[in-house]
Amino acid sequence: MQLYNSMTHAKEEFKTHEPGKVSFYTCGPTVYHFAHIGNLRTYIMEDVLEKALRWEGYEVLRVMNITDVGHLSSDADTGEDKMVKGAKREHKTVMEIAKFYTDAFFADFAKLGCRYPDVVQPATGMIPEYIQVITKLLDTGYAYQAGGNIYFDTSKLKKYYVFNDHDAEDLQTGVRDSVEEDGNKRNKNDFVLWFTKSKFEDQALKWDSPWGVGYPGWHIECSCISMKYCGEYLDLHAGGIDNAFPHHTNEIAQSEAYLGHEWCSQWFHPRHLNTAGGKMSKSKGEFLTVSLLEEKGYDPLVYRLFCLQSHYRKALTFTWENLDNSAAAYDKLVKRVAALGEEGTADEEAMKPWLEQFQAALDNDLNTSLAVTALYDVLKADLNDAAKRALIARFDEVLGLDLLGHAAALKEKEAAPAQSGEGDAEIEALIAQRAQAKAAKNWAEADRIRDELKAQGIELIDTKEGTTWKRV
Ligand code: AMP
Ligand code: ZN
Repeated sequence: MQLYNSMTHAKEEFKTHEPGKVSFYTCGPTVYHFAHIGNLRTYIMEDVLEKALRWEGYEVLRVMNITDVGHLSSDADTGEDKMVKGAKREHKTVMEIAKFYTDAFFADFAKLGCRYPDVVQPATGMIPEYIQVITKLLDTGYAYQAGGNIYFDTSKLKKYYVFNDHDAEDLQTGVRDSVEEDGNKRNKNDFVLWFTKSKFEDQALKWDSPWGVGYPGWHIECSCISMKYCGEYLDLHAGGIDNAFPHHTNEIAQSEAYLGHEWCSQWFHPRHLNTAGGKMSKSKGEFLTVSLLEEKGYDPLVYRLFCLQSHYRKALTFTWENLDNSAAAYDKLVKRVAALGEEGTADEEAMKPWLEQFQAALDNDLNTSLAVTALYDVLKADLNDAAKRALIARFDEVLGLDLLGHAAALKEKEAAPAQSGEGDAEIEALIAQRAQAKAAKNWAEADRIRDELKAQGIELIDTKEGTTWKRV
């Protein structure tokens, strides 16, 4: 497989430390709020990469952290802890917030067809490991103590900026160009490994350490979690492009300083999902979630298809029109798959060229839109229905669109007797009005009608084939 490596800025043949095995670390969510569909674009593309590697015969170990402590509102170690902020907003404890949003994240993850990672490790469960690594970094001169905190000394490295070319003056000692700059740092890009209470009094979760009661900085978790489960050599590391600097840059700095050798040589960075107003971001407060898409009648897998239709290394702009196009494409695909007959047998030999076409698309830097094209090509190919179904099943191991499952559900629905709620003219009229409001993107009106029916004890169920209802 040829995969773009952001460390070398080039497409390269994918390699692993041990033949046939891939250790794959992906930065997980900061669980202070719902994941937005921008975050989830990154997770969908990581999921496709993981599945593509499995499809090609690799044994993959996928590891993900859950950031439940230490990520401050600025990546430069300043501001409030995001978890503390979330807890205050909702009048809950940090652990309650963490549990709630971790569960919500994996519910969305599953709805989007993503495979649950082999290892999921919350950052709060690894304190002894952080202390051990930080102790060694202090002993070997890569870290220093100042103002109650432990910092990583970036000037001790031969090369700090591994992903992008920054000005040399960015690295100068003592540069203080913002009021937020931490005066304890010896170098502008030094970062905190361990905070103590002397600086942050209102941190909810604190642990004892050789340097006083405190809590870890944000970056140390990913180095320690990855080393614990994947060992000293990591094959592949992924995260959204905003993570490349400073987060991944700092992960590399501390991991390699600790290990004394190169740690991870392949980096996968999907680009952002943007809206007309710019990058979708949790901290801006206004963002789109999977639940919101569902409320508006979209199957989450429509969003997955929307993501697969463009390349992971290009920024993707979200518009409702574009999502509607994906919804129409998804419906059509499901109908075409549902129309395939069940009889006959699949001829492996005849399927080969299509499997090769599909694999070539994946091998070309995970070109998912070409992989989706291969799906369309199969549907119109000169093959019997059994071969088409078999190919769709194989492709779906990577694409994760559940086309056969949805096609079976559609057939079942078509064969089923009338819905319990059908035939009530007044309710049907309101449902039709709501459909019109939705088509006109008048969400407020659509929501109003839903609420009006709810008040009468009528619950609406949005499906791809339209809206049905039941009395509750
Ligand atoms: P967070 O929960 O903020 O730690 O972010 C989780 C993941 O989402 C990280 O890999 C980020 O790089 C990624 N991410 C954040 N914003 C976006 C966006 N607008 N589009 C795509 N990925 C994003
Ligand atoms: Zn990370």
